[in-house]
Amino acid sequence: MDAVKEDIKMVGVTAEDGGNRVRRGRGPAVPSTVYLSLLRMYLSPPDVHCLGPIKMELTEPQANLQAALQVLELHHSKLNTTKAINLLPANTQIREIRVFLESVLEEKAQMKRCNQVLKSLLQAEFLRVQEERIFHQQVKCVITEEKTCRVCKKKIGNSAFARYPNGVVVHYFCCKDRSVCPTEQ
Ligand SMILES: [Zn+2]
Repeated sequence: MDAVKEDIKMVGVTAEDGGNRVRRGRGPAVPSTVYLSLLRMYLSPPDVHCLGPIKMELTEPQANLQAALQVLELHHSKLNTTKAINLLPANTQIREIRVFLESVLEEKAQMKRCNQVLKSLLQAEFLRVQEERIFHQQVKCVITEEKTCRVCKKKIGNSAFARYPNGVVVHYFCCKDRSVCPTEQ
């Protein structure tokens, strides 16, 4: 229970307003578990004995389903839907969580549409890169008997060689810097 209190204290959520008032500013981001903790507090309030040996007449806290439903409706996008539904009492009516469920479905549908657009864009980008790769890979490089290295001026022959993007061919050994062509230095 202490961890729950810490969660709630950290983000400044107050139990009186359904968690609607969240402190803004440079504080830490609201952890996704805080609204679940708030739901737990509403649905299964802690026992008064957890306050310690305080000699006060306190009424036993009652579950507040309406406040919990308000948290669901206001913060559906920040809650794990499955965990939130599992916290609700077994006799909760569907009509009581209709607004919450509709919001969740609408949000998921929107996310699905966004992901489909993103998928199409990534597919187009993938095809463009493939095309570029094929273009670069189809460059032919013919080493003739007369072909000489542009660094040491000796024949390339059967030695390993390197080709710069501008077509300059040098011995692999003479290629000291892959990013700078020796003829352009
Ligand atoms: Zn060379």
